[in-house]
Amino acid sequence: MTYSHDVFAVDFDGVLCDSAAETGVTAWRAGGQVWPAWHGPEPPSEYLRRFINLRPVVETGYQAVLLMRLIYTGVEDETIELQFPELCTSLLDESEYSAADLVRLFSQARDTWIDRDLDDWLDRHRFYVGVVETFAARVESDPVFILTTKQERSVRILLHSRGIHLPADRIFGLDAGKSKENVLEQLSRRPEFDGNRFHFVEDRLQTLIRIAGRSSLRDVLLYLVDWGYNTPRDREKAKLIPRITIWDSCAFLDV
Ligand SMILES: [Mg+2]
Repeated sequence: MTYSHDVFAVDFDGVLCDSAAETGVTAWRAGGQVWPAWHGPEPPSEYLRRFINLRPVVETGYQAVLLMRLIYTGVEDETIELQFPELCTSLLDESEYSAADLVRLFSQARDTWIDRDLDDWLDRHRFYVGVVETFAARVESDPVFILTTKQERSVRILLHSRGIHLPADRIFGLDAGKSKENVLEQLSRRPEFDGNRFHFVEDRLQTLIRIAGRSSLRDVLLYLVDWGYNTPRDREKAKLIPRITIWDSCAFLDV
């Protein structure tokens, strides 16, 4: 194996794996604990269709519960797209549940599903064709980390299902309770990566913009993938930011 000078930090949902359908169902089940009118394990298919379409607004899992709530209460797609953070805040204000409660309920709903019917849970995910194979090859040759707002356990199980065995200390998930920028800072300060180039790959433009604003991360190379949970508007905006490179699936991890 040749010595590498490149370290990769890669987001999971929307970059390697499309979990929008699973997230919508998990959101429905978690929300059923809060709003008893949400009967049964599956949301009506029309709600799920809208949820998948609106998935780009969600940054962290628990917000999926709030997105499903907005759909359920009949808020228009365009209003959700333009005002999602504000709508989340007012939903939380008028509910007796906090964001922390929703994080817990969402995690519990997903864990229960995994424990009761792992195959069904795995079936609701779709890995991006070509991308996951490129990722698997990089894992063999270079230091590769996953930075995600998902639970580490879910990521581990999903990667295992594709024969990818990333050591536990290479996955930074929601459980770590740190922001992606803090994890990146920590990694880039590690003595073993002294002088290495860091590549950070995301499908959410807002996350890349936040990282671009950190002076301590000015040397990290930033990439937006042109699939996953971003919109044509996001990609147009990204083109105007010189710091960000847009990758299609052929360019993915090709440095
Ligand atoms: Mg993502």
